[in-house]
Amino acid sequence: MLEGVQQQEVNLREQMTQLQHETEQRNVEQRWVDVPALLFTLLNYGRIWFCMGLFLLLFWNMEQSQQMNQHHDSSNAEDSFSSEEEAAGAEQKEEEQEKQVEQVEKVEQEKKVEQEKQVEQEKQVEQVEQVEKAQGRPSRCQLVEELMSDLLLACRFVWSNSFYPTLRSAIGVGSAFEGWSPREEDTVYCLLVPVEAPRGHIFHLELYDEEDELAMNPRVRVELRCMCEREQQLGDVLCFLHHSVEDLIENQDPSLLQTLCTDVYLDVEKTVTWFRVQVATIWNTTLQADAYNLKVLPSKRSCKLQLTNISSGEKILVELLFGVQQGNSDIFLSSQNTEASFTPSTTWPQSCAVAEMKYFQYLLEKAGENSVIQSCLRFLAHTLVGMGFSTYVIKTLIFHLVNIIPLGNWQRRNFLSRLESILRYLHFCLKYKRLVHFFIGNKMMPDEVILPHSFRTATPVNLFQHLEDDPDAESRVLRDFRVLRDRLLKLLLFGR
Ligand SMILES: [Zn+2]
Repeated sequence: MLEGVQQQEVNLREQMTQLQHETEQRNVEQRWVDVPALLFTLLNYGRIWFCMGLFLLLFWNMEQSQQMNQHHDSSNAEDSFSSEEEAAGAEQKEEEQEKQVEQVEKVEQEKKVEQEKQVEQEKQVEQVEQVEKAQGRPSRCQLVEELMSDLLLACRFVWSNSFYPTLRSAIGVGSAFEGWSPREEDTVYCLLVPVEAPRGHIFHLELYDEEDELAMNPRVRVELRCMCEREQQLGDVLCFLHHSVEDLIENQDPSLLQTLCTDVYLDVEKTVTWFRVQVATIWNTTLQADAYNLKVLPSKRSCKLQLTNISSGEKILVELLFGVQQGNSDIFLSSQNTEASFTPSTTWPQSCAVAEMKYFQYLLEKAGENSVIQSCLRFLAHTLVGMGFSTYVIKTLIFHLVNIIPLGNWQRRNFLSRLESILRYLHFCLKYKRLVHFFIGNKMMPDEVILPHSFRTATPVNLFQHLEDDPDAESRVLRDFRVLRDRLLKLLLFGR
C-alpha cells in the first residue's frame, strides 16, 4: 500500500511539473532543463487537447445543423402557400446548406493543419536540442582540443633540446568534456596534459607511505639516468652522471633537477610557472594566433588560459592540468588542488579524471543517445551551486546507481523518476554516512577503463568518512539535503 501511495505521489508530482512546464518550456533561460524529456510527457496533453477540439467541433456542427433544420421546418410551413416561392426557397436553402457544410469542412481542415503544425513544431524543438547535443557541445570541445594540440606541438618544438618535461597530447576531462556542464556561458574546458620525464631522467612515483598505505601526499621523485651510450651513438647529449659539473654547465642546459624540482621532487608550482611564463610567446608562433588571442589568467597549480576569438569576440576558458601517468593506467598524479587547506608544492594528488571521463563515455555508449544521465547530472549540478554537496558526490552517486538501475531505465521518459532515485540514494548514503569511492576498490571495472592493480585490490574509501568523524555533521548535511530537495522541487515547478 505504501508503495502504491508513493507511486501516486510521484505521479501527481510529475503531472504538476508537466503542467507548469507547458507554460514555461519556451523560456530560453532554462537551458539546463532537459526540455525534450519534459516535452515527451507534454505530448500526451497535446492529444487530450486535440480530442477536446474535435469534440467541440462536432458539438458545434450538430448545433448548426439543428438550427438549420428548425429554420427549414418553419420556412416549410410558411412557404406551403406558394409553390413557386417554395421551389426557389428550397434551392436557395440547399445552396446555403452546401455552403455551410463546406465552411465546416474548411474549419475542420484548418484545425487539422494547425494541430499538425503544432506537432511538427514540437518535433522541431526536439530535433534542435538533439542537433545541439550532437554538434554544439562536442564541436566546441573539439575546437578546444585542436587549439591545445597546436599549442602543445609548438611547446614540444621549442623545448625539444632542453631537459624540461615532455608534454604529451592533452586529454579533455571534467564536466565540459563529459557533456554536463551546468552553465554554458562560464564553462571551463579542463584538459590534463600528460608529463613525461625528459631524456636522461626517470620519474619514480611515491604513492605509498611507510605503512604501505596510499600516501596523503604522493610525490614524483626525479632521478638521473646514465646517457653515456646515447652520447656515444648520437652525440647529442652529455651524460649528467659521468661528466664534470663544469663541463655540463658550459656545454649543456641544466637538468630537470636543477630547474623544476624542489629537493629531488618534481615541483607542481615550478612546473606551472615555467609553462605559464612562456605559453603566451609560444602561442604567437602557432597558426591559430591569427584567430585567437591568448591571455594567461592567475593560478597556482594549473594553467588557466582565456582564448578570445579575434573576429567574433567569443571567449573560451581553458584550464590545463599537468599529470604523470601511473604505469599504463588511466590514473594520473596530477597538479590539481586537493581539498586540504594546504597542499605542498611537491604533492601530486592521484586523479581519476581520465578514468571518470572514459567511464562516462562507456556509459553513454551503452545507454544510447536518449539517455538522461548527463541531463540529471547537469540539472543537479545547477541546483547544487553554493551547497554542501559537491558535484563529485553526485557523479559518484550516479556511477553507483547506474549499476543498480538498468541503463534502459535512464531514458528521457524516466527523467523525473531518475532525479528522484538520485535524491533517495543521496538521502540513504547520508543517513548511513557511507558513499564509497567509485574507482578505489572497484573490481568490476569494464576493460575500457584501465585501473592500476592497486586500485582493484584496495580497501574501499568512504567519501562520507568526515560525517562519521564529526558529530554535528549529520544534522548539518541532512539540513542541506532538505534545502536541496526543496530547491529542486521549486526549480521543477517554477523554473527558478
Ligand atoms: Zn653515463
